[in-house]
Amino acid sequence: MYPWLQVFQNQLKESFSQARFHHAQLLYGLEGIGKSALATNLANALLCVNTQDEMRQCGTCKSCNLFNAQSHPDLFILSAEQNSIGVDEVRALNEFIFHSAQQGGNKVVVIEQIEKMTESATNALLKTLEEPALKRYILMTCDDLSKIKATILSRCNKVQVNISDNHQIQSWVGQQGINTALYPWLENFYDQPLLLQRWLTHGSLDEVDNMWKVAHDIVRISDIAALDNSLSKDPSLLNVFCRFLMSASKQQVMNGQLNFIQYQHCVASIEKFLSDHHDVLGLNRTLSLSNLVFGLQSAMKQD
Ligand SMILES: [Zn+2]
Repeated sequence: MYPWLQVFQNQLKESFSQARFHHAQLLYGLEGIGKSALATNLANALLCVNTQDEMRQCGTCKSCNLFNAQSHPDLFILSAEQNSIGVDEVRALNEFIFHSAQQGGNKVVVIEQIEKMTESATNALLKTLEEPALKRYILMTCDDLSKIKATILSRCNKVQVNISDNHQIQSWVGQQGINTALYPWLENFYDQPLLLQRWLTHGSLDEVDNMWKVAHDIVRISDIAALDNSLSKDPSLLNVFCRFLMSASKQQVMNGQLNFIQYQHCVASIEKFLSDHHDVLGLNRTLSLSNLVFGLQSAMKQD
């Protein structure tokens, strides 16, 4: 278990031992904070047959062994890997909940990123949320609470997963093998520690670092090839680059390098770039990136 998640695990454990544990839990928070890991851990604890009144996993019972072998028949996971969660998958889930448990204990459903549910999938889930069955638990995660329908929200217990201690994250990040002194932007992502870990695993920390440097020296950039290459390998870095551009522009206003009008033009260019990427199918990334750089440079040079 990641150390920063322990506090949430403890809270939920406590509510369980006081018989207040809601049958539907929605864990929400930033991408890369560990919501799935927390949900998985809770699922393991709910399924363990040795510790049914205190919600923790013994690690040795048949149920824990099945869980660790990823073949527990009373666990149903709708993973976040797909682009959307459709009605057929939710119907299968409802069916799963309806049948009795094979191991004689609880049955647990994990739905990752419920914002990916289609409208009809949401409606199919609502009925199950409304009519809780004994010893059935639904653990859901989402990155963005604003995308979730009120009818869903009102039927579950919401748990905000966040980071309260940056020092804890800093030392964890260091333990993973990231040189925390090397990257000045690192602490901006201390509320997304698993994102940092992913970049480490994929060898993309230096590419992110290059993005940070480019964002802070955009007025002098003439060659976008390296940047374009990084974005083609991992499109999710696009949001990161824009985040760097925004903070660099803000910093330049504070340093007196940009006036407010210039700053507003920069922000408008960045926002247009981002919305084009979300809205325009088949967008030519290289062209749109050079338009962005040109737009920012013109904004910075104008009087
Ligand atoms: Zn067990």
